[in-house]
Amino acid sequence: MKKCKTRFICSTLATVMGVSILSVGMSTSADAGLLMNRGKTKTNVEATTESTTNEVTSVTYDGHIVNPRYNILNFIKENMPDVPELRFTGNTVEEYEKWRESTKEKLMEVMGVADLVPAESAPNLIESEEFPTYIRYKYEINTIDDLYMPYYVLKPKTNGNGKAAIALHGHGSDGKEGLVGNENESYTEGMQQYHYDYAFQLLEKGYTVYVPDLLGAGERTLGIYANTTAECNDINNALTSLGYSLQGMILLENMRLADYIATLNYTEINCVGFSGGGQSALWLSVMDDNIDKTIVSGFLHSYKDTLIYNNRCGCNFVPDMWKYVDMGDILALDADKDIYIETGNEDQLNGDRGLEGVYEQIDIANKAFELFGREVPLNVCDGAHQWYGSWMDEF
Ligand SMILES: [Zn+2]
Repeated sequence: MKKCKTRFICSTLATVMGVSILSVGMSTSADAGLLMNRGKTKTNVEATTESTTNEVTSVTYDGHIVNPRYNILNFIKENMPDVPELRFTGNTVEEYEKWRESTKEKLMEVMGVADLVPAESAPNLIESEEFPTYIRYKYEINTIDDLYMPYYVLKPKTNGNGKAAIALHGHGSDGKEGLVGNENESYTEGMQQYHYDYAFQLLEKGYTVYVPDLLGAGERTLGIYANTTAECNDINNALTSLGYSLQGMILLENMRLADYIATLNYTEINCVGFSGGGQSALWLSVMDDNIDKTIVSGFLHSYKDTLIYNNRCGCNFVPDMWKYVDMGDILALDADKDIYIETGNEDQLNGDRGLEGVYEQIDIANKAFELFGREVPLNVCDGAHQWYGSWMDEF
């Protein structure tokens, strides 16, 4: 296991990526834009004195010149709120509880799933296979309408601890298959890179581990496209056009699974996820009272720093979400629950500002956590975007 440190002990890494674009303030009366030709840039010779004092910086990607005056990046950045509408501003536990209730209600509405009613029937057993120390069952559970979610259950033969854990996959794992060592060989390299072994770590501790396929991965691709890469973008495009969202549907399905697990008399139901699975674990933890403890690995940064730059998958995007909350606000909903965050000091998903952006989100959440006499448990680990398992002792 890589060495991990608690907050403020380790140095901040400023990941350097992308390009900086200076603001443009040309006079409209001067018609003083850039005349662009492939491979070279020149200013308009008829520009007024006022306009020529302004600095214009264009950027080049593989010989393709991009003028920041012509694209909408600055518009997007300027419209992202410094303080989202639903940030917690109270000073008492009573105010917090009121804020949490109304914020959760609003976010379920924003995600497009507030009015959806999950199915209730018992899961169907598909198959079972015996391994030396555990039995692997495969089930499917009806989640909504005629939609079913397949999942594995890893059940220890001898050292069961009476607890259940839901292990959520991110990208590059062949959905649930990689977490149980059953992935297509084209995923093997990614499995090693990301250290996707948390389902087995939980199993070794005695957990009965539930490993679902999230929408768009594993057995849950649309069946339209020839390749098998995650289809978050395609699915989210369709769902948001219908008033739903991919992350909302993933949350709804995971809550349905947790509700079912809660009928099985485990002493705890815990949840673990890395990367995109970390995002879904965060949502499940804040929205579902069935969940006791959660580890969010490789997914706690700001929307502003990351989502349009280096975390571009459709599973991250929910209409209107940025107006209401950032990730620290979502984490703040868990102020009195056991949730553990880990990240790598070289994790490029954290964006240009690296850990600085992570700490800002942690500080937002801490405003709520402090009401309960605690801080967000955060481990900063030495390395890149991967599962570290730095909080497994808490499980
Ligand atoms: Zn995705």
